[in-house]
Amino acid sequence: MKGRIFEIREFTLHDGPGVRTTVFFKGCNLRCAWCHNPEGQSFEAETMTRANGEKIVCGEDWTADALADELLRNADIMAQSGGGVTFSGGEPLAQAEFLMELIPRLKRMGVHLAIETSGYASSQAYRSVVTQVDFVYQDVKLLDSDAFRRWTGGELDVVLANVAWLRGNGVPFAFRVPCIPGVNDSAADREAFVDFADGAKVEFLAYNKAAGAKYPMLGRTYPCPPMSS
Ligand code: SF4
Repeated sequence: MKGRIFEIREFTLHDGPGVRTTVFFKGCNLRCAWCHNPEGQSFEAETMTRANGEKIVCGEDWTADALADELLRNADIMAQSGGGVTFSGGEPLAQAEFLMELIPRLKRMGVHLAIETSGYASSQAYRSVVTQVDFVYQDVKLLDSDAFRRWTGGELDVVLANVAWLRGNGVPFAFRVPCIPGVNDSAADREAFVDFADGAKVEFLAYNKAAGAKYPMLGRTYPCPPMSS
């Protein structure tokens, strides 16, 4: 089996402890209006065209062995800094079977593993992967089902069921909230997210003003800035 990856970013500092390599999995079943990685949404390989005409292929297929070898090239630096590998996307759990092949190859070399997930995955995919990693960044985007459906195209219940299980599972985690102007960034929203966290760590991520930059490169129009209406 192969996994489809659209970027491998080395020496990242904000996706977990130490110096890390972040692996971006291609494909996501949500369509957040503010998504700043639109090349991560489709499960198909795509080509982005920069303004200068340069073409970038997004989506490369890897075997678990080849990807593990690639990631382990930086194993020494990761180990020295207390870092590791972070799975991101797109939605890494949409390729859970491939992750379950990749993870043991990294774990047996002692690599610290983190995952960033929307939680929009089957309970089986979620549980099988989450129990194998060292840390989970769990997105919380909205706490109202209608708003979640409107802004992401998905069903909030799927995420909430996985979060409920995560709270009792014992794997260290933090919630991450992307703060989107006019959507979920009011003082009341912030309070609601803190209440929801119920003592767990919550990281509020500032809106990425460059979020729309890649859409024209894919021949798409950025659906934001999202304003409440
Ligand atoms: S869950 Fe993440 S990758 Fe998927 S559409 Fe939303 S912001 Fe983009």
